[in-house]
Amino acid sequence: MTRQSALALVPPQVRHFIQGEFVETAESVFDDLDPTSNEPLTHVAAGDRETVDRAFQAAHTAFDRVWRDMPPKERARYLHRIADGILADKEALALLETLDTGIPIRQTRGQVERAAENFRFFAEMAPHITGESYPMPPHFHNYAIRQPVGVAGLITPWNTPLMLETWKIAPCLAAGDTAILKPAEWSPLTADRLARIIQSADLPAGVFNVVHGLGESAGAGLVSHPQVPLISFTGETTTGQEIMRNGATHLKRFSMELGGKSPVIVFEDADLERALDATLFGMFTLNGERCTAGSRLLVQETIAEEFTRRLADRIRRIRVGDPFEETTELGPLIHPAHWERVMGYIQLADSEGFEVAVGGRRPAGLDQGNYLEATLLTGVTPSMRVATEEIFGPVLTVLRFHDEAEAVQIANAVRYGLAAYIWTRDMARATRVSQQVESGMVWLNSQNVRDLRTPFGGSKWSGIGREGGEFSFEFYTEWKTVHVALGTHGIPRVG
Ligand code: NAD
Repeated sequence: MTRQSALALVPPQVRHFIQGEFVETAESVFDDLDPTSNEPLTHVAAGDRETVDRAFQAAHTAFDRVWRDMPPKERARYLHRIADGILADKEALALLETLDTGIPIRQTRGQVERAAENFRFFAEMAPHITGESYPMPPHFHNYAIRQPVGVAGLITPWNTPLMLETWKIAPCLAAGDTAILKPAEWSPLTADRLARIIQSADLPAGVFNVVHGLGESAGAGLVSHPQVPLISFTGETTTGQEIMRNGATHLKRFSMELGGKSPVIVFEDADLERALDATLFGMFTLNGERCTAGSRLLVQETIAEEFTRRLADRIRRIRVGDPFEETTELGPLIHPAHWERVMGYIQLADSEGFEVAVGGRRPAGLDQGNYLEATLLTGVTPSMRVATEEIFGPVLTVLRFHDEAEAVQIANAVRYGLAAYIWTRDMARATRVSQQVESGMVWLNSQNVRDLRTPFGGSKWSGIGREGGEFSFEFYTEWKTVHVALGTHGIPRVG
């Protein structure tokens, strides 16, 4: 029944949203696939440089004439209205997200709540974007203000698409910039629905625009547009590198939220039951397609056997199936190409010498679509590809360590540095290790609870810059310093 309700919400064609309207274009289209069957759900407009420029003209005019100079409290009212619209349309958004991505319905409902919360949070912050003051009486009173920058290109991935899109749109609009969103081509449905919500919220035309399409055309069009000064990107590290190369010509400002291979370090004195729960939650919810997934489990050798046995028992019980079933814990992966990629890692077992302790196959009875059993790889050593590369599916690798020093050394032996999770009752050790581990975020005795005020982002190959709270405004605004002479201070005479 829910699946039927979801299908009924799918538009016959997903179109761009420009200047407050869904626009007809003569471009080609591509199919959006249902991950449970890989049958087409709908056709999506494939934007190109011309589409991007059309969206730019709309966004630039709206920036210049309406949005930049609107009092922040008024901007905030629009953001609250969008949050109201999301909550009023909660079930439809969750259904579409599940249909498009295969993420279980119970989880997409939570993601929709978070999308609304992103708008609320930045609406509250908008009137508090303040500057700095540097008085030097009686000679000067200097100050620095933050101003909106212009049109921002927001390029987003297919994992938790709505939540991640709103995480960029909300601070962008709150700061006074206007936006062109380029959603991921594998998951365009909730971006389309969000555009409808934003249209109903009467946001001034052109403030928010969506250009659908492929990365190499629509995405690249945004990155190479000479007048788009900001590019906020979330996606794969290799794509981020290409974007930075392409955007360098026009010296754009980038925010980069990239891949991860985050360690979960479990010491022998940890609360093992909680560590087990958190490891399973962080790895196998959102179909394992989570940037901060704790995909490398590092267990102290004294407890490794017992902990791995208990983990394997629980992983065997993870319910894989129809993402519309309320009891399903793991749905199909997003796309057949991604399924092949994840399977490719599991198939390295013989050549790399690890064991597939649990899962690793298509589940019995689920012959169509991109289903994969929850998978546990053991006998993994730090230099193997499955220990160093991001798999981005429901595949957990287990490594063993002898002592604290070795745990830190293995944790840091990858190019990524997004998140780390540390489990121990010894808080001095927890604090020490949290300082030594190379990652943008660390959770001590916790799963990845998100506090929107804190800086979110990665170090090393996991990103550049931070999103969240004030940190988002560092990206979406430009500092301007104003020097004011109060009296007749000396001016060196020339000529
Ligand atoms: P991806 O890099 O393939 O695509 C992301 C977006 O970039 C898509 O919209 C795509 O169309 C666009 N794109 C592709 N090539 C482009 C180009 N040349 N120019 C401009 N745009 C281009 O990533 P994905 O497969 O959609 O997402 C999964 C990745 O995202 C994983 O690596 C994951 O770790 C990462 N991710 C990171 C975070 C974080 O906060 N650090 C959050 C979620 C996902």
